[in-house]
Amino acid sequence: MKAIIVKDGSVLYGEKPDPIPESDQVLIRVSYCGICGSDIHSLETGLFEDGHTPGHEFSGIVVATGGEVKGLSPGDRITVDPMLNCGECDYCLEGEPQRCEVLDTLGITSDGAMAEYVAVRSTNVHRIPDNITQEEAALTEPLTVAIHAVDQSGLPDEKRKRTVLIWGGGTIGLLLLQVARLYTEKVAIVEPVAEKRELARRWTEFVYSPEDFWDIEDDLGQPHYIFEAVGKGILIQNSLDLIRKGGTIVVVGVHTEGVETDFLRIMYNEITITGTYANRRDFPRALEYMSEGKIEVKHLISNIFPLDKCKEAFEDAAKNKKSVKNIFKIG
Ligand SMILES: [Zn+2]
Ligand SMILES: [Zn+2]
Repeated sequence: MKAIIVKDGSVLYGEKPDPIPESDQVLIRVSYCGICGSDIHSLETGLFEDGHTPGHEFSGIVVATGGEVKGLSPGDRITVDPMLNCGECDYCLEGEPQRCEVLDTLGITSDGAMAEYVAVRSTNVHRIPDNITQEEAALTEPLTVAIHAVDQSGLPDEKRKRTVLIWGGGTIGLLLLQVARLYTEKVAIVEPVAEKRELARRWTEFVYSPEDFWDIEDDLGQPHYIFEAVGKGILIQNSLDLIRKGGTIVVVGVHTEGVETDFLRIMYNEITITGTYANRRDFPRALEYMSEGKIEVKHLISNIFPLDKCKEAFEDAAKNKKSVKNIFKIG
């Protein structure tokens, strides 16, 4: 089959053997697969070894099922939770698969879906509702990341209407914006790129550039919840300057460098800082939100590339600041 293959920190369009499904797996013909910020980061930092095939955000069609698989058949339209947790460690038994001690993630630690076919264990496969397209379904995984991040903040349990601030209007920032809007209308977003700010206005009137973010306090009051979806240390510091006493900062962005933090202020102002990683079995909820029209993902797709244009697609995702989500159309 055709596949994207990592070579010397870059990507090649190449050939790999077709995967053969094991008895508990289904063989999937991939329809669309998105490029994630973490794919670019892993390529640039050498986390992906030569020969690896990335791709953890995708949709597809079942073409064959292993002997033990129940409830799925050839022709089913599906998307896949890439978190292949063990199901047996303390974390898995506590219901926190994203913390699994031996977590294997499709497309990160094992071969992913930037290929014509992929074989996946059937318990990670989710059927796509009729009113969601294959294109849209490729964004289910990033939506689960936003759902889990908002859950981690405690906002869904909040009884009062609260102010939320999001740093960054990329795919995750814009999904965080929509998920937070399910709980409160007071959601602000800060984004430097004008085109992304324009897009954000679909879901909130409170859109700011990095030059005018202090206006948030006048417009909405100090935020109770802040989501950092960029990965820049200065934004953690800015968050501590802005946030209301007793507020919560959620670290969603990938911070590759250490961050200087004002612990005295965290103590005095009773600030909570929490991390969030991937998703916590949130695919059914994500598909439901999309199907009910509560969350719109199609506006986030900037460019669609064929698999053989993988270099251009990755280059654009890494360098073109106007691009939100680039996806491959595969089958
Ligand atoms: Zn991702
Ligand atoms: Zn586990």
